[in-house]
Amino acid sequence: MRLTKLTIPSLAGVLLTLPSFTVSTRAALAQAPSPGRPIVIAASTVLDGRGGVRHNTRIVVSGSKIVAIGPKARPVDYDLRGLTVLPGWIDSHVHITTSFGKDGKFGGGDGIAYDDAFLRASNAWATLQAGFTTVQHMGAAGSIRFRDAIANGLVPGPRIVTAVMPMGEGLGSEEEIRATVREHRKLGADLIKIYASGSIRQGKMTLTQQQLNTICDEAKKQGLRTLVHAFREAVRAATLAGCSQIEHGIGATDDDLRLMAERGTYLDPQAGLLWENYMANASRFAGTPRFPKTEEGFSSMKDLTVMTQDFLRRAAKVPGLKIVFGSDALAGMHGRNAEEFIHLVRDCGVDPVKAMISANSLAAEAMGMAGRIGSIAPGMEADIIALEGDPRKDITAVRRVAFVMKGGVVYKNAARTAIPAGAGAQRVKTSV
Ligand SMILES: [Zn+2]
Repeated sequence: MRLTKLTIPSLAGVLLTLPSFTVSTRAALAQAPSPGRPIVIAASTVLDGRGGVRHNTRIVVSGSKIVAIGPKARPVDYDLRGLTVLPGWIDSHVHITTSFGKDGKFGGGDGIAYDDAFLRASNAWATLQAGFTTVQHMGAAGSIRFRDAIANGLVPGPRIVTAVMPMGEGLGSEEEIRATVREHRKLGADLIKIYASGSIRQGKMTLTQQQLNTICDEAKKQGLRTLVHAFREAVRAATLAGCSQIEHGIGATDDDLRLMAERGTYLDPQAGLLWENYMANASRFAGTPRFPKTEEGFSSMKDLTVMTQDFLRRAAKVPGLKIVFGSDALAGMHGRNAEEFIHLVRDCGVDPVKAMISANSLAAEAMGMAGRIGSIAPGMEADIIALEGDPRKDITAVRRVAFVMKGGVVYKNAARTAIPAGAGAQRVKTSV
């Protein structure tokens, strides 16, 4: 894990300068696995993240890893019978550093003041409690330090994979583009995020084919994946450039989508939560940079919702196209990421098992982490969640996350304290 020297005040910086506080906080943040003895989890239904199901079994965790699965393991530490157990979800597209500011308005996420650090910590906690044990962040100031603070146990949150900062217009010459990619690698980037289109409405290409070719080529040389914000003709251009994944993708033709399937380019579309969030928080986004000036300006998001649903239905029919789960979580959406599953299944006709896989093994594969996360199997990180209800029968079960373990550490256990084993008694008010 890369460690970044903390030179700018941040929450992690505060904790690092107070070692005794750090130690006691760490102990309070999570129930640490008792050293030396494996943890045994009993489950009646396990979705393995790859499409397989196991019944009446036990998962054995040692340290941060799953070491065995079998019905005879004992003694049982966590009884999750009656719940649906699955790998912690992966959200492939978030802006976890964005929040609403003190004035209630959308505050972007580029600040590095103390308040921003607390808001970031809060976003991370909400996301983890909602069952997301890994997120892919698109990059903003301080993203690398935030990632490392969580990885080092200073702040509880999902495992973060991140860009340093998105790349887009004004990139300069080919040599300058290559130098920027190398610089991001040096700063600790896990990926390169690229803006190749303007907004969804005026979606002209903002980079040339040649520029895209250069970024994706240099990123490959540096061992980095490339995630491209692209609409319409930019989808084909990014695919031809050999980029790893298309974000959004609306306006792509069936031919473009088939080309993506052929080339193994992943698609990360959104299903509706983003628009729902803009409409619900219109007063907070209105008048902030890049958003409509008035709340009325947000009513057109309804058309975008329909457009999004049509696109997803069309993309789902393209043979071999790999579609991963990505909510585009920004201010107002942190901890509500799973609502996107409901949009996918209820509004876009996606099969619930496929929806789960898109946030488990397929998302892990797209991130080059299939051997580490996204599945419940021996050797994998112990990222395990449990839902009250079965998302295969009722997709709103994704709202009822009763248990969260990340890397062998339990961060939420409503099951043991609030739900009698096997009874599935926790009731959460829902609007669907
Ligand atoms: Zn985004």
